[in-house]
Amino acid sequence: METKNNQWLSSMEQTNPLVIAGPCSAETEEQVLTIAHALKKTGTTIFRAGVWKPRTRPGNFEGVGKIALPWLKRVKKETGLLISIEVANANQVKLALENDVDVLWIGARTSVNPFAVQEIADALEGTNKIVFVKNPINPDLGLWIGAIERLQKANIKKIGMIHRGFSSYRKSMYRNEPNWQIAIDIKNHFPNLPLICDPSHIGGRRDLIEELSQTALDLQYNGLMIETHHNPDKAWSDAKQQVTPERLNTILENLVVRKSNFEITSKEILTNLRMEINQIDHQIISILAERMEIAEKIGQEKKKQNVAVLQPKRWSEIFDKNIELGLKNGLSKEFVEKIYREIHQESITHQKSVFKK
Ligand code: PEP
Ligand code: MN
Repeated sequence: METKNNQWLSSMEQTNPLVIAGPCSAETEEQVLTIAHALKKTGTTIFRAGVWKPRTRPGNFEGVGKIALPWLKRVKKETGLLISIEVANANQVKLALENDVDVLWIGARTSVNPFAVQEIADALEGTNKIVFVKNPINPDLGLWIGAIERLQKANIKKIGMIHRGFSSYRKSMYRNEPNWQIAIDIKNHFPNLPLICDPSHIGGRRDLIEELSQTALDLQYNGLMIETHHNPDKAWSDAKQQVTPERLNTILENLVVRKSNFEITSKEILTNLRMEINQIDHQIISILAERMEIAEKIGQEKKKQNVAVLQPKRWSEIFDKNIELGLKNGLSKEFVEKIYREIHQESITHQKSVFKK
């Protein structure tokens, strides 16, 4: 049975929202202790530090490994902060349990993999740990739900969800697209589980963290996970997105915490929809820019082969095909015509500039 209304979180009797902070990666004993002591002066409850780092490509810093576990124990002893790490397999869970890690999280590259999640759930069965599940890398609500269900089946009572954004093929202002709607959907699916926002991995840039955090609070998230480092530019991983403990403090002071009823008001729905529109507008511009880049490549080919920029047959083909597609998708013929005339004009301008070079 699910605990009621974030009961495990409420019973921690800490300030609202829950703040999880600390470096992307544990680097040295001195580094974790310096950061943790500085975080004591902020509203942080849980100290985070990656010990094993899942890197997309081999050869990047992959974490210092288990030698960091005693350092984190010292953090807990000296500061009273709860300590948390990412786990990706049963052996890492075993080491975390042996070293009294309080909170474990399953990372985005692991929550996509039901075998790995099941292995972690089995290794945690019978323990009383707090376990957070980050959203899977790809925007798939079902996978995220499934990962949580595996933990619930293993009788884990203190589960939370972390929204860290979704990777996208398109260029974006975000490192990982927020797709806020998926987070709202998972909250509706598990209304009693706390939802935490990780603006660091969504934004990928420290200047986006405050705005993303405020959006999360406006959408009634229950907490934030923010990567924090005493010397962010020198961090061994994710340097661009980390903030200093002082900056974290300012961000937390600036944030406006909305009333905590469980109904999403129309203002919050509006905020959410506007964020979605901003994201789509950003994608429209990136896609158009990508289209122009391709048009320029075509221009280079035409120049090599000495053919005219304007190819009327090809143009009417594009035009007709897209009007038809627009009609199928509820867009008027006039609208698609207008847009495509402009797009075509811009493509010709780009191709001509190639010819002039
Ligand atoms: C992290 O929290 O440092 C991390 C690797 O996150 P994610 O799984 O969200 O990429
Ligand atoms: Mn990181």
